[in-house]
Formats: sequence, C-alpha cells, structure tokens
Amino acid sequence: MQPWFDTDKVFIGGRWQRCASGGTLPMSDPSTGREIGRIARGGAEDIDAAVEAARKALSGDWGRLTAVERGRLLARLGALVLEHADALAEMEATDVGKPLTQARADVTALARYCEFYAGAADKVMGETIPFQQGFTVYTLREPIGVTGHIVPWNYPMQIIGRSLGAALAMGNACVLKPAEEACLTALAFADLARMAGFPDGAVNVVPGLGAEAGAALTAHPGVGHVSFTGSVGTGRLVQTAAAANLVPVTLELGGKSPQLVFADADIGKALPFLVNAGLQNAGQTCSASSRILVERRRFDEVTERMAEVYRGKLAAPAMSDRDLGPLISARQKEIVTGYLDLAGQGQRVAEGRVAPDAPDGGHYVAPVLLAGLAPEDRLAQEEIFGPVQVLLPFDDEEEAVVIANGTPYGLVASVWSADGGRQMRLAKRLRAGQVFLNNYGAAGGVELPFGGTGHSGHGREKGFEALYGFSSLKTVAAHHG
Ligand code: NAD
Repeated sequence: MQPWFDTDKVFIGGRWQRCASGGTLPMSDPSTGREIGRIARGGAEDIDAAVEAARKALSGDWGRLTAVERGRLLARLGALVLEHADALAEMEATDVGKPLTQARADVTALARYCEFYAGAADKVMGETIPFQQGFTVYTLREPIGVTGHIVPWNYPMQIIGRSLGAALAMGNACVLKPAEEACLTALAFADLARMAGFPDGAVNVVPGLGAEAGAALTAHPGVGHVSFTGSVGTGRLVQTAAAANLVPVTLELGGKSPQLVFADADIGKALPFLVNAGLQNAGQTCSASSRILVERRRFDEVTERMAEVYRGKLAAPAMSDRDLGPLISARQKEIVTGYLDLAGQGQRVAEGRVAPDAPDGGHYVAPVLLAGLAPEDRLAQEEIFGPVQVLLPFDDEEEAVVIANGTPYGLVASVWSADGGRQMRLAKRLRAGQVFLNNYGAAGGVELPFGGTGHSGHGREKGFEALYGFSSLKTVAAHHG
C-alpha cells in the first residue's frame, strides 16, 4: 500500500507543505503493529495558517461560487473517490485495521456523501414570511464561515464525508483535524479535493495530536462552528473550548445502543443484525449495538442462536478480509480486555477466535458474548468499543423501555416485533437519535439524519438536516411603504 501523496505533510491553502515544527508522528498498521510511515505533527501554528487560508478562500474564489458550482465540485469529488476506490479501501483497511470489504463499503459511503450533498447544495432555500402591511420578509441560509472538523479513527472516510460534505455544500471553508491513529484517507480526501478543482483554502487538513492541533482548532477564534466526533471526555473539552468563543458545536459521541427483541419477532431475520451491529469494525463503532434486550420467553433461544454465530467468528488481519480485524491500538486492546476481565467465567456465553496465523504484534481480541449481568453492571452501562455484546432479559414492554433508556447515552435503538402498535409506541419512547423498526442501521443511509441525545451528543449530521447545522439563518425585513 503506497499512497500517491506524501503522508507527512499538511494540506493548507491548496498546497502540501511541511508542518511548522517539522515534526512527525508514526503511523502503524493495527494488523501487525508495525510502523508503516509518518504523518505530520501539526500544531497551533499550522491551525492558524489553515484558518487564515480558509478565511481567504471565503473572501476569494470559493466564496464567489454559486451553490450549483459548489455542487458540481462535490459531484466531481465523488467521482474521483470512486475512481480511486481500490487505493482508498486498501489505505483504510491498513490504517484502521478493518476488513477490506468493510473498507470498501466506507469508500462507497464517502462517494455517496459527495453525491448526496452535490445534489443538495442548490436546494437549500429560505422562506418568505407573511408580515405587516408594507413589509416583505424572507430568510436566507448562509455559510457560517470557517468550520472546524475533528474526526476519530474508526470510520475516517464516512465521517469526513458526512461532515465536510455538508459543510462544503453550504459554502463553508473547512479545516479538518483527523485522528492521529488513522489519517491516510483524510489526506487522500484533501488531494482528491485538489484534483476535483476546489479553490485553494476551501479544504485544509492538519494532522496532529488531539491535545495540540485538535485543541488549537477548537479554541481558534476564527472558527465559526466545530463539528466533533469522538469520545464523551474529549467532547466535553471541545464544547468548553468552543464556549469561550461562543460558537456552536455538533457533538457526535458514543453510545450503548440497544436492540429490543420481542417474543413475536422474526428471530431468523433479526439474527444477523443482532450480531453484526455489535461486531462490525470489531465493535469500534459509535452506533454499535452493544446491548441485546430479549423478552424472557425467547431469551434462551436467542442466546443460543447468537452464541452459535459467535463461535464461527474469526478475527484476522484486515487484508485477509475475515469477520473482524484487529483493534486500532495496543491501548484499545488493553481497555477492552480490561472490561472483559470484569466478567465472570459463567457470564461469557460464547467466544469467537483469533486466526492462528494472525501476527503477534497485531491488536486482536476474539469477540465475546456476555449474559447473566444486571442492567446496572458496568459492562452493560459503559461503552466498551470492542467486539463485546451483552444480553439482557426483560419481562414486558415497560421493563424493556426502562432498561433501554437506562444509560446516559441515546444514540441508536432498534425494535424487533411484529406488533405495529408496539413499534409506534416504542419509536416515541426510546431515547435515541435514530430508532430502527425491524432492522438496524438502515445500511448506514447517508440520507438519514444522525446524532444523539444525552452523552451521545447533540446536533445532527447526515441527510438534509446537516445543511441547517452548517448554515446560519438570516432574516431580512424590507419596509417599502
Ligand atoms: P477521541 O475523543 O479520543 O478522539 C477523537 C478526535 O479528537 C481525534 O481526532 C483526536 O485527536 C481529537 N482530540 C483528542 N483530544 C482533543 C482535544 N483536547 N481537543 C480537540 N481534539 C482532541 O475519540 P476516539 O477514541 O478516537 O474515538 C472513539 C470515540 O468516538 C468513541 O466514544 C465513539 O463512540 C465515538 N464516535 C462517535 C461517532 C458518532 O458519530 N457519534 C462516530 C465515531 C466515533
């Protein structure tokens, strides 16, 4: 895997350049633990330069483009993403450790975000408002200005697509700080934007550490909106930093998302969703379904059927494209195994395997299915961010809702039941930004607004809704007698 661009540079004002300090950070392959290259260690000076370049873009070529023209650039970018699909998938698989098929799906998602926001760019309209005699009143949706984007390592392409796609469609100029653990496709995105013809400064990418480049971006007085996807702890820091500048933030944080399986559900249909929603990307997914709530009458049956699937699951190097890859880092593996140590032997209902020939330096954890825990146990409450799911029984709808809503999170939930009335009741009662009825995740639909409540964050990305978040509404009241 050899990227077509230099990986150890920052992309500012349409140019690849060394970061101000000249420092670099190692990039490693989670499948082997080996260093595969270096990235720039961008810092406050680079963020200053990127924000300045973005500001210039807004008052220059980028700011002069019409919505149609911005849409065309995004469409071209989407086409370039598809043309580079193999290289992008290989980069993401190597950098993140996700099986190649999952990395390919992320490429498709990135292209879809570009396509969706390309089509949406010229369809964001204001309103005319009936008002007093002698007035004409209307609203304008305008770009906010410079938007800051901080993304995590688990789905770089998808999150860059949803966040920058919408921000660019609205005419903002973006500064992206990717995660230090997985930067490659963020850098590729910058270069594809250059090839697509985005004016200098519309897209800027500054890799670096969270506490350095990330903190500098969130605290920068020239940034008008911060979109952050990551952990609750960092989200708190980001919101606090942005508050000093009184700018809005979108926080896309973690979850402990439940699937509720009622006795009248089609278990055969549900089964692959119950498991895959927990194990996709080795469980390192914000919207992973890590709690499976099952009506007691069918609890043993669902447990046994899930256990059987688990026993067949294999964690292996990303490029061998099996069920799961490794975790992102040795530290993440330590966190996940630390959680698993909390479970008693009898609570480990079933386990998958690590491929016997998986390299020793890789960060592999075999998937584990847990049962026999109380809903208040840490394993059933905290985001583990690994291939671990917890089964919990319930006796009736009321108890299911109490357990489902009984964590500080509220990102995603699903209901498996044939009863239409119950589906509608629970869609309202479940505390989550997305509720799925007889499915989970709706194949990631880029069209569907996404975001959380409580500790899962606030604000919405994806879909048309994101365009409102990345714009500023102006009311114009004309008095003409
Ligand atoms: P993290 O919070 O450690 O890091 C995320 C990003 O924030 C990285 O780019 C990092 O460099 C940066 N960062 C770190 N410290 C910072 C600081 N002080 N100021 C500014 N930026 C800083 O999260 P992570 O461990 O990389 O990602 C996993 C978490 O992300 C999980 O909790 C997961 O649920 C969440 N996540 C949420 C979504 C969503 O859409 N809701 C999607 C993916 C991941």
